[in-house]
Amino acid sequence: VENFQNKKVLVLGTAKSGYAASHLLHQLGAEVTVNDRSPIEQSEMAQKLQNEGFKVVCGDHPLSLVEEDLYCIVKNPGIPYTNPILIEAIKRNISIYTEIELAYLISEAPFVGITGSNGKTTTTTLAFLMLEEGKKNPLIAGNIGTVACEVAQKANRENVIVTELSSFQLMGIETFCPKISLVTNIFDAHLDYHGSREEYIKAKSAIFKNQTVTDFAIVNYNDETVMGMIADSKATIVPFSSTEIVENGAYVKNNSIFFKEEEVIKLEKVVLPGKHNLENILGAVCIAKLLNVSNDAIEQVLTTFTGVEHRLQYVCEVNDRKFYNDSKATNILATQKAISSFTKPIILIAGGLDRGNDFDDLIPYFNNVKTLITYGQTSQKIVDSALKTGMKDYKTVDNVEEAVNEAYALSESGDVILLSPACASWDQFKTFEERGNKFIQAVHKLV
Ligand code: ADP
Repeated sequence: VENFQNKKVLVLGTAKSGYAASHLLHQLGAEVTVNDRSPIEQSEMAQKLQNEGFKVVCGDHPLSLVEEDLYCIVKNPGIPYTNPILIEAIKRNISIYTEIELAYLISEAPFVGITGSNGKTTTTTLAFLMLEEGKKNPLIAGNIGTVACEVAQKANRENVIVTELSSFQLMGIETFCPKISLVTNIFDAHLDYHGSREEYIKAKSAIFKNQTVTDFAIVNYNDETVMGMIADSKATIVPFSSTEIVENGAYVKNNSIFFKEEEVIKLEKVVLPGKHNLENILGAVCIAKLLNVSNDAIEQVLTTFTGVEHRLQYVCEVNDRKFYNDSKATNILATQKAISSFTKPIILIAGGLDRGNDFDDLIPYFNNVKTLITYGQTSQKIVDSALKTGMKDYKTVDNVEEAVNEAYALSESGDVILLSPACASWDQFKTFEERGNKFIQAVHKLV
């Protein structure tokens, strides 16, 4: 555990994580200076820190902040290494950390780090619940819930910190080393941010970077990109597969989930639907088994856990039509998985923010869609792809409420009505949660 007592530390960037880091460092006895490029009037967090007595420098990045006796810099992951302050710090061999790294440096508890394009939240939640049921004192941090360094501060040797990591958080990792890492899958998400697929994969691969043979890397055996990422990893590899029997990992045999040679639970007892969720479950089982959680505890979770909100969440049944809210499906892969999760005829509601991609990757999946209802910026693009399959039943509407009403009007007994937009929500909503809640409200209004 690193000692920050009386050390001079510069926090670069004042987003939520910078705010949390400043407080943490102050409590650890460091002399903290905060710097942000934007003027103080524009940064609520900087104002707050200043009012709380922190030394705050706003408006630019003066090199004078890289003082002779500066111990380290804690930077927002979004600040590039071409920033003059960072160039100067590198020249002088001053350590540069990110918030997650800081959490790691001050924590006595081991970390479980979960990343990937899809399934992070579900896998993280499952693993957390299993560890909790198994009395392993887990704490959850990162994208879900609390900022990691706040959690790390509360943690002790008896805890295990389970954290969902975005590629954004993984950028700039220097020493962060999870005891157990897990990559769910890699899909071309966030390319607009990371610039290229290589950059995105490189960011995600940082999760393995510092692991050694006493650490574990849990990977999706069915995902070629993920398997490619571990080529240079020194960690002990623990694969999972929903289709093949894999050695030293989790897999399905005789309608049961196995870990290594041991049967963990019969599939019929698992309540969470969807093949993709089986992958998430297998990953979480690997984490639980590696940390010695009993099969009884794992079973207790898998027989009761019905999913995280807005992820293929069952809403209710109206007149023998079942409604599902998959508002978190903000990319095409997620919608493919959602469609593949049902054997009943689907009325699909999709559409949202236009990020410039086309929807032809949904073509093979439209076979399972009997009626398509689209709305939002991508409305026409999705219809264009569907038309290539000869789809006849489609309709475009203005918003989610209308989509629900239209879907219901066009449905028959036994149908599944599924919101799985394949797009981000920001053309009409602030968040995917707001979109999902609007959908749920509209469904309840039907009753
Ligand atoms: P993340 O936190 O990575 O965004 P979530 O667990 O929140 O992942 O799920 C996001 C969306 O992706 C949901 O719509 C869900 O149905 C879909 N999804 C979940 N797990 C997987 C998976 N293993 N593979 C593909 N899609 C998935």
